Amino acid sequence: MNFVAKSNDVSALIEADRAHVWHHLSQHKAYETVDPQLMVEGKGMRIWDARGKEYLDATSGGVWTVNVGYGRESIADAVRDQLVKLNYFAGAKGSAPGALFAKKLIEKMPGLSRVYYSNSGSEANEKVFKMVRQIAARHHGGKKWKILFRERDYHGTTIGVLAACGQPQRNADYGPFPDGFVEVPHCLEYRNQYPGADDYGIAAADAIEQVILREGPDTVGALCLEPITAGGGVITPPASYWPRVQEICRKYNVLLHIDEVVCGLGRTGKWFGYQQYGVQPDFVTMAKGLASGYAAISCTVTTEAVFNLFKDNAADTMSYFRDISTFGGCLAGPAAALENMRIIEEEDLLQNTEAMGQRLRGNLLALMERHAVIGDVRGCGLFYGAELVADRASKEPLAEAKVQAVVAKCMELGVIIGATNRSLPGLNNTLTLSPALISTPDDIDRITATIGEALTAVCG
Ligand code: PMP
Repeated sequence: MNFVAKSNDVSALIEADRAHVWHHLSQHKAYETVDPQLMVEGKGMRIWDARGKEYLDATSGGVWTVNVGYGRESIADAVRDQLVKLNYFAGAKGSAPGALFAKKLIEKMPGLSRVYYSNSGSEANEKVFKMVRQIAARHHGGKKWKILFRERDYHGTTIGVLAACGQPQRNADYGPFPDGFVEVPHCLEYRNQYPGADDYGIAAADAIEQVILREGPDTVGALCLEPITAGGGVITPPASYWPRVQEICRKYNVLLHIDEVVCGLGRTGKWFGYQQYGVQPDFVTMAKGLASGYAAISCTVTTEAVFNLFKDNAADTMSYFRDISTFGGCLAGPAAALENMRIIEEEDLLQNTEAMGQRLRGNLLALMERHAVIGDVRGCGLFYGAELVADRASKEPLAEAKVQAVVAKCMELGVIIGATNRSLPGLNNTLTLSPALISTPDDIDRITATIGEALTAVCG
């Protein structure tokens, strides 16, 4: 921890922040009485704030991003080497790191073959929506232009992707939105949307088919889903869900877009979340863990069949994908992503994620036995949620203030955890855990012991 020792003026830093920075997703009124917290240094699983307090980070940078942990010099070196060689050229041309990373990535994604670079998860998803619309315009006579998205899923922050937002408070006030985005129901077995169903996963998937039939299959171009819903409550679908979803998409010629912005790059213990379920998507988008936050990069990956729809009819001067992302040509991104992937492989982090995930699950289930406030534990790999309820029988969600008090207590005790936020009124009651893929047994045990202590302090 060097920063505070070197800085004589933490107060000036905090005041500069208070006076001039507009924080993401924050109500700034609070900073009139409380200092903003500035994170200044990280190493491995640990991070320090400007006042020198140390935390164990169980969120991988707040939003499931820093998969390989903080302070990776080899990624910084790879980025530096690339920047001094060539920092940038527009993505209409190829680049060395872009080509090498695409090849490496595609090796992990059988059935997919093309990588389109941009620089945020939102943007990667927008690219899919534009591709689907262009396919509709040029190959389906203007039909198949609708895009289905799911209740509780989130795909980003720009107006286009907010049109496909299943979390009401995220897009309230920001409309009107573009037409043709249609919501399908969720598959959260714990909240039992399909009482009496023989197979919950099949019932939830069939609800998607009902929407396709209602809208008209010739109007529906794509279905966009998170493999495991992240911010909407860490929702792992029942085993039967995904195969049926795939079957329905094939039946109605609907392209399947899986948003791996959170689950991609090892978070669930496989390279991608969809690989837990044996599905074959037409589009995969990824961002956060792609370079673990060492550079801004996202990818939209698709099949040769989709790619060819934009290539084969070269006589049509409007047929190519008429899109550019200026900073999709920034070469720090693929350089960092390549080294990030090498680390995941060389340090066997998928295997570690699997093993530490089992430990995390076991610890959370043990906590559930001691704390009636935990109603459900869901997740996979190093990606877990613990849904908190006021009463197990009625499953009434625990009040948001108490959920936030648990998060704050953990922070006070030196462990950073997350929670689903206000975007889900009445359902913002799930604690979220996504420690880095380098977690050790001691890290996992400390995280869950701290949650236990916080639950006792807040809920008794
Ligand atoms: N998709 C999912 C599933 C996400 O969780 C997020 C961000 N939380 C996004 C897309 C948007 O990514 P970004 O913030 O990089 O635009």
